[in-house]
This record gives sequence, C-alpha cells and structure tokens, in this order.
Amino acid sequence: MAFSRDYLTTYFQDDEMTARILNGKAVADELCNKITEIIAQYKVRPGLAVILVGDDEASKVYVERKKEKSLSLGMKGRILHMPEGSPQQILEAIQMYNTAPDIHGILVQLPLPKGIHTSQMIEKINPIKDVDGIHPFNLGKLMIGEPIYTPCTPQGCIRLLKHYNINPEGKRALIIGRSRIVGLPISFLLTHLNATVTLAHSHSSNLPQLLSEADIIVSAVGKPKLIGTNHLKPNVAILDVGINRINQQANNGQSVVGDVDFTPVSKVASAISPVPGGIGPMTVACLMYNTLKASFIQEGKTMPEQFFNF
Ligand code: NDP
Repeated sequence: MAFSRDYLTTYFQDDEMTARILNGKAVADELCNKITEIIAQYKVRPGLAVILVGDDEASKVYVERKKEKSLSLGMKGRILHMPEGSPQQILEAIQMYNTAPDIHGILVQLPLPKGIHTSQMIEKINPIKDVDGIHPFNLGKLMIGEPIYTPCTPQGCIRLLKHYNINPEGKRALIIGRSRIVGLPISFLLTHLNATVTLAHSHSSNLPQLLSEADIIVSAVGKPKLIGTNHLKPNVAILDVGINRINQQANNGQSVVGDVDFTPVSKVASAISPVPGGIGPMTVACLMYNTLKASFIQEGKTMPEQFFNF
C-alpha cells in the first residue's frame, strides 16, 4: 500500500518527534564574522549611535549589547543615554548625529517613554542613517520590494529561514503582531517571498483557525505560552520573536521565554527558533549588517554585491 507523504508525516507525529532548532546564535555569529572580514578588507569604520531615553531596564541591556557588538566587530559604537523629558532634546540629538560624519547609523531604542511621539522622532532621522529601517521612506521602499535597510528583526527572521532552507514560496504564513518594527515589515518580506500572508493582531477573532492553516508562524506579541500545541498544523515552522521576562523559579531557572510553549510545541513543529538564542542575536547581527551597509553608502564605496543582498 502506498502512503502519501502528508499521511506519513501526520502518522509519525509521536512523542519522539522533535523540531529542528533554528540556531539564531550560530547564524548570527556567521554573519558577524563576515562583517568583520568586510570591515578589514574594505577599510571602513562604520559608526553606530544608539539613543536611549529613560530608564527601562530591558532597553538598557539591549542597547549595551548593540554597543558591545559594534565595538567587537571593529565599528564605532556610541550610546547617548537621555533622561525622560523634553522631546526637543531627543530631536536635537538626532539632528546632531544626522550631521556627524563618523556616524553612519542612528537607532532610537523603542519603546520610547509614554508621552513621546515615536513617529515624530523616527521621522527626524535622515533615512540614509536609519539603520533600523523604520523611517516611512525605508518602510515604503521595503513595501514595494526595494529595501535599502531591511528592519533588523524582520531581516533576522528571513535570514534564519533562508539559512535552514525553509522556503516560504507558496506557503501560508501567519504573522501574529503588527508593530511597525516587527510584524508589519515581516508581512512585506514574506509577501515578496511569495508566501500567502495573514497578519493577525489583538482584534483577530479566529486565531485558532488561522493557526491550524499556517505552514509558517511568526509570533511577535510578547505573551508567554500564547502558542501551545492546540490547533497547530503538524510540521509547521515557527519563528518565536517574543521576549518575555518571567519568574525564574516557576520556569526551571529560565527567566526569559518567547511566545511559544517551547517543549511541547517542538514535538509538533518541524522547525522552531528558541528563546533565548533565536531571533534576538539575529536582530543584533542584522543591525551590524545595516550599519556596515550604511557606511558603504555614505562613504561612496562600491559594495560587494553578493554580500549586500538584503
Ligand atoms: P508591540 O507591543 O508593539 O506589538 C505587539 C503586537 O501583538 C500588536 O500588534 C498587538 O495587536 C498584538 N497582540 C497583542 N496581544 C495579542 C493577542 N492576544 N493575540 C494576537 N495578537 C496580539 O510589540 P513589538 O512588536 O515591539 O514586540 C513584540 C514582541 O517581540 C515583544 O515580546 C518584544 O519584546 C519582542 N521583540 C523581540 C525582538 C528580538 O530581537 N527578538 C525585537 C523586537 C521585539 P494590536 O496591534 O491590535 O495591539
């Protein structure tokens, strides 16, 4: 008797099955090594300025990581830590970096404290220095499939899929979360890779149905255990973008988890990115990549095309 491939994969969906782990840390290290090589070969000194406003503890950790990584790759990395307060001071800081010749990339760490109009700040960044890729000009370029700087987390997701030969073409992709920095740009990228894309959010009333139809899921919400095994299609590939800080004792000593209930889901999915060690390191590596690209553009250097393909 001949079995169809679908039948067999469903049939063998037992406790033994474990998903391929999409090792973002390893793929990010590979990208960073390449960046170091290019910096040495082309003798560029990319400069990144990160503006941090307020005292959010998680944001402090993220910006420090970005600075450390940029320095370790041979770039200039600066953090400007500003107290919560006048938006005018933030605009002035952005303007200062817009005209600083040794700074090629500017990133305003999000979220900004309540009361500060995020769009107003982002729109002040010169789009050619917007290495986060979220200025309306850059998001527009991305939307029409001509990105200059592909936003870092979305870029990290696509690089990870590519590295593991997970081709979205013809697949049903469900993205949960529609923020400017993550979910929305991922929807553009997956659309251009010929996936059939659904973008879900807090008002989506039929999430179980959408989950059951998806071949690829990207979860970018910020809710632990949002995705369990219920409703998942066997062999789905899952990118877990969420970062949630939880009580360490209640979770076997682990204090950071994603949106996906990792252990049970990894028995159903064909591939899954872990938290930590998945999309997080990819995001930082892609920021380094965008900053390097920004330095080539602003210094008028010819880019090695096979490398600058994002
Ligand atoms: P936002 O808060 O801006 O967006 C969250 C999104 O989730 C919104 O679109 C919201 O819908 C949606 N949402 C909320 N609750 C539900 C629900 N129950 N069902 C479906 N959708 C829901 O967050 P970000 O996009 O900035 O970040 C999302 C997560 O990713 C966070 O955990 C963040 O820490 C993490 N992150 C991780 C990064 C990394 O490098 N790994 C980088 C950036 C973020 P609505 O629009 O209707 O409000």
